[in-house]
Amino acid sequence: MRRKLVIGNWKMNGNRAGNTALLSGIVAGLNDFGADCAVCVPAPYLAQCQAELAGTPVAWGGQDVSVHACGAYTGEVSAAMLLDFGSTYVLCGHSERRAYHGESSELVAQKAVAALAAGLTPVVCFGETLAQREAEQTEEVICAQLQAVLDAIQPEQVGKLVLAYEPVWAIGTGKTATPQIAQDAHRFLRDCVAKKDAAAAQSVQILYGGSMKPENAKELMVQPDIDGGLIGGAALKATDFLGIIQAV
Ligand code: PGA
Repeated sequence: MRRKLVIGNWKMNGNRAGNTALLSGIVAGLNDFGADCAVCVPAPYLAQCQAELAGTPVAWGGQDVSVHACGAYTGEVSAAMLLDFGSTYVLCGHSERRAYHGESSELVAQKAVAALAAGLTPVVCFGETLAQREAEQTEEVICAQLQAVLDAIQPEQVGKLVLAYEPVWAIGTGKTATPQIAQDAHRFLRDCVAKKDAAAAQSVQILYGGSMKPENAKELMVQPDIDGGLIGGAALKATDFLGIIQAV
């Protein structure tokens, strides 16, 4: 049985006072829902997460990581730095980074490699645009994105990944993938992983992301290959985020 995992992706949102209110609201409302839970926050707030979440069931992490270990890379944050502040996870290849920062699948794969080498769990994001879906290229696109990562890591590392299927047309648009569309993509991704490592394909967690909210979380989470959610907008309000975790 794979454990469910719900990760909040704060994107470029938050401030110290608001974060304290959000984090304490999440911690106060958490029950033993049987799901793991984490927040991926802007790098300046990692120290705050460490101070306010240590000893709670909520893990935390970054939203991006450098492929470099250290040195003259202005603006970059290394895996070791994320780890220095107690991070467990780091997002790699979110579609906003692919689109606005020109991150290729090969670069994203190298980020996952850097994260794994440091002992972080990379949450590698995949997804097709609306144009690609309409052109019936979904499988081809997400398979190529996944394959770049599978090609870059060692076979024994496959089980250490978390994957997130996030159709670009569903992110922040209020347009959630139907449970069947999401399930089909998750099944497809799992089958792709199985070609590299059949056992890891059974254990790897594949999260759905894209306008997930308390009202639609349950119908998505009950799908056999959906192991949790990567939540943007609804992760910024404790009641919404808890509502999604509760739906698990
Ligand atoms: P959304 O974002 O929940 O606001 O659609 C999800 C994501 O981008 O990770």
